Amino acid sequence: MRAVIIGTGPAGISAAETLRRLEPASDVTSLSAEPYPPYSPPAMADHFLTGREETLFWKGVDISERLGIDERREAVVEGIDCDNREVVLQDGSHIGYEALIIASGSRLYAPIEGADKPGVLDFKSLRTANELVGKIRRGEASTALIVGAGLIGVELSILLVELGINVTVIERESWVMPRTLDHDTAQVVETALRERGVDLWLGVSVEEFLGDKEATSVKLHSGEVLRADLIVAATGVKPHIEFLAGTPVSAGWGVQVDDHLTTSVRDVYAAGDVAEAADLLSGERYVHAIFPNAVVQGRIAAANALGSNIRYDGAESMNSLKHLGVPVMAIGTTQGADEVLRGGDGESVRTLYLKGNRIIGVQLAGNTSRAGLYRSLLLRRADVRRYSRGVEGADFSMADPIFTWPSLPHTPLATMAPK
Ligand SMILES: Cc1cc2nc3c(=O)[nH]c(=O)nc-3n(C[C@H](O)[C@H](O)[C@H](O)COP(=O)(O)OP(=O)(O)OC[C@H]3O[C@@H](n4cnc5c(N)ncnc54)[C@H](O)[C@@H]3O)c2cc1C
Repeated sequence: MRAVIIGTGPAGISAAETLRRLEPASDVTSLSAEPYPPYSPPAMADHFLTGREETLFWKGVDISERLGIDERREAVVEGIDCDNREVVLQDGSHIGYEALIIASGSRLYAPIEGADKPGVLDFKSLRTANELVGKIRRGEASTALIVGAGLIGVELSILLVELGINVTVIERESWVMPRTLDHDTAQVVETALRERGVDLWLGVSVEEFLGDKEATSVKLHSGEVLRADLIVAATGVKPHIEFLAGTPVSAGWGVQVDDHLTTSVRDVYAAGDVAEAADLLSGERYVHAIFPNAVVQGRIAAANALGSNIRYDGAESMNSLKHLGVPVMAIGTTQGADEVLRGGDGESVRTLYLKGNRIIGVQLAGNTSRAGLYRSLLLRRADVRRYSRGVEGADFSMADPIFTWPSLPHTPLATMAPK
């Protein structure tokens, strides 16, 4: 089998490992637009803080050598010739394939005027992160303005404060990480960020990045202009699919895939942040841009490319915050809940979202104990009232009943089959 993988992120490198393991004689080429060995984006902040490379280059810098695959760096794919089964690179060269795995991940998405100006920095890839942190290390920046308080904006604000500069974060919604956290959980994060010295501007919208040669300030909806040495956009991500224009590979926001991660074109698969895979619970297809989904999808796409018939059960929604000093975890969704159980104390907020007695979402801040148990109940679609032994007849709307179920943590999970 001659396989080409576009991307050496978590999805691409997992695909490469799987191809090699399942078919030792396969001829594998992997392509990365960047000049680095395969790396883990979630480990970037730690790398810039500590200099540690082991978690950043999580598979080892020599992984491709060890796997015996042809890994090409700064090899930017510009198009795909599906008729002739060739990938077309920016330098004009063509690489033939029998199976193609698209694992090109995602890039910054900033639908704000002036976002394409030089000087609008981001923390989405190691290349852009190096550029940003390089300015601080060279003493060119003592202030930063981050637009967007999603997971990446929040993580970056913590890193930049640790690197010793003044950080302002501007968020359009009225609480941080609005697509991941509910209002109450977000309060814990906001308090921790403010205690660390991050200047949070919530409910404030940025209209434009300003600057002649490069962006030096932002204009707010109110007309006010804020200036900083570093202007950073952390407004969202968008799958890397530009090179699919004009090809028969169906794409919407991301590449559309079926339950086997096959695209609309035979022998072309997609995995990771670039793929619109089904949601494990709702079955809805959209991009679930998290690391564990990318790894699993990469493995399944590769196995199926070799002729297996593995069905992908669906992607999970799960996020946690590192480096905040306070543990925060969000699993599943808050949308569509018909019951909300909220507990905790002054230091923590713990909320379960239920629909028809089944957990559909979990938000834990300050105290993330039992996260694994709740996740397991959510994934098993377990009717949680069945496990409320010891509190028979308990009013579910009572404050924090689920956290005090005496039997729940001790009930063997093996017996918890969904109804
Ligand atoms: C700062 C940060 C923190 C994160 N924290 C977490 C976390 O805590 N937990 C979590 O689960 N997820 C986290 N994520 C998300 C996680 O990193 C992604 O879901 C994961 O990296 C997706 O893997 P991927 O292989 O699909 O794509 P990517 O990791 O984006 O890799 C894409 C690859 O494709 C290559 N490529 C793109 N376009 C081309 C082209 N045209 N030609 C050739 N090569 C191309 C790139 O060079 C790269 O090698 C974080 C992301 C960031 C940026």
